Amino acid sequence: MPAILKVAVPVPLRLVFDYLPPPSVPLQNLIPGQRITVPFGPRTRTGYLLAILDDTDIDATKLKQAIAVLDDKPLQSPSDLKLLIWASRYYHHPIGEVCAAAFPVLLRKGRPATNSVDKRLVLAAPIETIRSQITARAHRQHALIDLLADHPEGLSEQQMNRLGRDWRTIARLLLKRRLIETKICIEAKQPDLRVATPDFDLNREQQHAVETIHAGLGGFQIFLLEGITGSGKTEVYFRIIQSVLAAGRQVMVLLPEITLTPQLESRFKARFNIPIAIFHSGMTEEMRKNSWLGTVRGHNPILLGTRSAVFTPLKAPGLIILDEEHDVSFKQQDGFRFSARDIAIKRAQILNIPVILGSATPSLESIHNANQGRYRHLKLPLRPGVARPPSIRVLDIRKQPLTEGLAPGLIRSIKQKLDQHEQILLFINRRGFAPTLICHHCGWVARCRRCDSNLVIHSERKQLRCHHCLSERRIPECCEACASGNLRALGLGTQRVEQLLAKIFPEASIVRIDRDSTRRKGSLDSALDDISTGKTNILIGTQMLAKGHHFPNVTLVGILDSDSGLFSTDFRTTERLAQLMVQVSGRAGRAEKPGTVIIQTRHPDHPLLDSLIKRGYPGFALDALAERKMIGLPPFSYQALIRAEGTDPDHPANFLQNIRQTAEIRDHSGIEILGPVPAPMTKRIGRYRYQLLFQCRHRGVLHGHIEELLPKLAELPGFRRVKWSLDIDPVDLF
Ligand code: ADP
Ligand code: ZN
Ligand code: ZN
Repeated sequence: MPAILKVAVPVPLRLVFDYLPPPSVPLQNLIPGQRITVPFGPRTRTGYLLAILDDTDIDATKLKQAIAVLDDKPLQSPSDLKLLIWASRYYHHPIGEVCAAAFPVLLRKGRPATNSVDKRLVLAAPIETIRSQITARAHRQHALIDLLADHPEGLSEQQMNRLGRDWRTIARLLLKRRLIETKICIEAKQPDLRVATPDFDLNREQQHAVETIHAGLGGFQIFLLEGITGSGKTEVYFRIIQSVLAAGRQVMVLLPEITLTPQLESRFKARFNIPIAIFHSGMTEEMRKNSWLGTVRGHNPILLGTRSAVFTPLKAPGLIILDEEHDVSFKQQDGFRFSARDIAIKRAQILNIPVILGSATPSLESIHNANQGRYRHLKLPLRPGVARPPSIRVLDIRKQPLTEGLAPGLIRSIKQKLDQHEQILLFINRRGFAPTLICHHCGWVARCRRCDSNLVIHSERKQLRCHHCLSERRIPECCEACASGNLRALGLGTQRVEQLLAKIFPEASIVRIDRDSTRRKGSLDSALDDISTGKTNILIGTQMLAKGHHFPNVTLVGILDSDSGLFSTDFRTTERLAQLMVQVSGRAGRAEKPGTVIIQTRHPDHPLLDSLIKRGYPGFALDALAERKMIGLPPFSYQALIRAEGTDPDHPANFLQNIRQTAEIRDHSGIEILGPVPAPMTKRIGRYRYQLLFQCRHRGVLHGHIEELLPKLAELPGFRRVKWSLDIDPVDLF
């Protein structure tokens, strides 16, 4: 019987490919989890060995041979592979692309799985022998030899850098004379764990949370840690992490992209003396590869990463923490559209370890799961010490004379806080100067030619910009429809608020934080520094301000535009708005000074706003869940969305209509099909987008149906004229 290699190849085909073993590789050297190069069409590809079987559906004589095995030892364990295969089935996504997503880019490209930390310099002979062969005047050579003598386990490049820049020249010299040598060493010796525990005691709720999670450390369990901002969730994580580390296990901590700031990293480093690997999109590919390999080998007991880190294999898995679990950035929005939260849960289940989901504003899905008893719900409703939660006030702006969008009451409050030398945070979730340029004479509005969207006015270079296709142009002198010169900026953006406040409060130091102001590397950190040292009086920002940061001296938060989120076609918008408002409010008054939150609105009686203010986020969540239950929306049903786009609007619309007809031929027992409908933003970057939604109360039924449907798509008329994608559990209907 020949051995048949089952290989996942990163191509958009829902297939596993069969190969014969590479020439002259003994069978016992082939282990699932290894990377393997294979011929594929005219090219070679890096594939992933999933299994070795002795049968194939294809004529075995026609099978091609794999080219080479890239890894001596597999990089993925059997449970890692199990997870990837599960994910490929659950998301109905090609297994090859799923496997590729689990690796850092350089390893996907077939680079060797060696880490800069793996290569170590060691002495090649007893120290006396070596000393006797180096002249006394060669001080630097002696220094290097002495250092290596102190470290019989060898020193990595990073550690050698301590000797100064020219150590490489000296090392090269000694290597050439065979007095030292390099060895590959992937076993790491950890320093003894030291933990800098703060001297306060946990409060009762924290204590309860820590004890409950402790008791569950032995196996799979899902904890939902719901704690208001500043209630000490991170402190709870730290205590649990400490026990997991002490047991010699690793911890994976997943965070939304934006929260992974050097501040958080240094908080972890200040607490634990062991190596911590970081993994996020702001790093170079080389750095990411090193973090990934370090974690695989167990060099880094802690991994702090964003969404894509969820697949990183752990040598000794002990615990997964997902902080700010409600954050939409945990959902990949293109290609392989996975939810890092759901993958983390599945992973913990396969590994039989606990997972903690933390948030001040859990997603309605998670609250529902906790209510159903699937998650263990732990609550931290109080802030430790003297800090009190902020008081919230609704400011009805309907009959108020607004100064460029700011009500007099808000301006008065800002002045008062400035006089008291306290900080103010103004939140407006729109960057740029104003979202609309309108002709006061004829009503013409500057729109993007390629997208269904208004152009946003940006003041720095007097430009109009489309936030979707990123096209830019100069602000026109006069109306393009009637040539009137009476063009006006309509609505508020962060830049406009900044300019306005600079005019009203010329002495105040104002900082704006949004994607435009923080584009330069380091600018966000320096802005955050100015805020924490108290140099800044007023902070203006978008949702970047709502996440993770601590602003203990902020005592007034103004939310300038809450209304856009109250009336939207996407049923999740109110949930997001509520989360955002609570998160922003949570920035206020963390220290001894109580905070105030002022929400400007034209709809003070909106029921969800009302329940949020009167009964807090838990009350809001209860009402919002009741509403979803009544209309059968998630989490009371499951969804799958097929999107299609093309250069002609008829192509995606017709293609989706054909899918609908195919889907309807069968009795689909309880599956609702909605659409095709134009996407909320139909035209984007010159392409027309349509969507078809499948919804069902039973997940299994929905998935079975999708699985049957997908192979038929390629035969439908119009298949070649569109680009289509499938989104399981979509979080965004755009
Ligand atoms: P969260 O993660 O919920 O926002 P943190 O864990 O960051 O909250 O805690 C907020 C602040 O309160 C931190 O400075 C933390 O050191 C402090 N803190 C946490 N728990 C306690 C406690 N039991 N007593 C006093 N201070 C605490
Ligand atoms: Zn006009
Ligand atoms: Zn555009």
